[in-house]
Amino acid sequence: MRELVIISGKGGTGKTVTTGAFATLAKSKVMADCDVDAADLHLLLQPEIKEEKDFLSGTEAVINKELCNECGLCRELCRFEAISEDYTVNPIACEGCDFCANACPQKAIKMVRNPKGKQFVSNTRYGTFVHAKLGIGEDNSGKLVSSVRKKANEIGKTLNSDWIIIDGSPGIGCPVIASMGGANCALIITEPTMSGLHDADRIIKTAKHFNVPVKLIINKYDLNIEMSDKIEDYCKSNDISLIGKLGFDKIVVEAMVNGKTIIEYAPNSEISHNLCDIWNKIDNEVI
Ligand code: SF4
Ligand code: SF4
Repeated sequence: MRELVIISGKGGTGKTVTTGAFATLAKSKVMADCDVDAADLHLLLQPEIKEEKDFLSGTEAVINKELCNECGLCRELCRFEAISEDYTVNPIACEGCDFCANACPQKAIKMVRNPKGKQFVSNTRYGTFVHAKLGIGEDNSGKLVSSVRKKANEIGKTLNSDWIIIDGSPGIGCPVIASMGGANCALIITEPTMSGLHDADRIIKTAKHFNVPVKLIINKYDLNIEMSDKIEDYCKSNDISLIGKLGFDKIVVEAMVNGKTIIEYAPNSEISHNLCDIWNKIDNEVI
């Protein structure tokens, strides 16, 4: 079983469109959406949820009003100003440091684990899909990403799948490291702009640090040929496999609006042919 993670420097570069196309093309796979902060692969795959569980991570303080004598010590000590004048803890501000619970003379504060989001296993027309929803204001997405990936791998092993295909998190922070560490290939989608090149360079360095082999696609390459050439030169001089270039085509947006992958919506379009070629190369080259 091989793991492919599709990533980009920022959202909106064509990552989900590419992942959706591969969902259509790969024969034996489990899909996973690790872009938990802005999950949108479900819009294309239209999952039917068959399993749902709370995602628990970290702890937060809860004050038992019956034991509390309102001495004010916890409010004084909490450097995150998470405790209100009426001695209620704001769960979003609370960092779970445990300081107030240890200090409270009345033992009125308990640390509890609350759901930070939900993780789902779903059926789709393209097979099993593992995805998640982070709770409002929650930022433990690195842990949730790891949990989604782990579940997808467990299912992949049970089903004897050839691929785990992951819509990764954008950027280079904790979630993207959680989505790509140990993968067989990180496929980077970039656009022909200076910031696209800069972002790609940062992700490539991060991937190299974690020994993850990298391939790159330039999306909408024809919107700035000069910059696309620069990215190609960068790939040559850094020994990066530029696996394909996709032209701008408004049919991609039409497919999204219709809740279909581009391969389903416009199988004979140039972009679909290019994505087929890219997928075949990945299937043959990634080990
Ligand atoms: S330290 Fe304990 S007793 Fe004092 S206000 Fe806080 S919760 Fe109440
Ligand atoms: S656990 Fe830490 S952050 Fe949360 S309320 Fe207590 S002192 Fe503040």
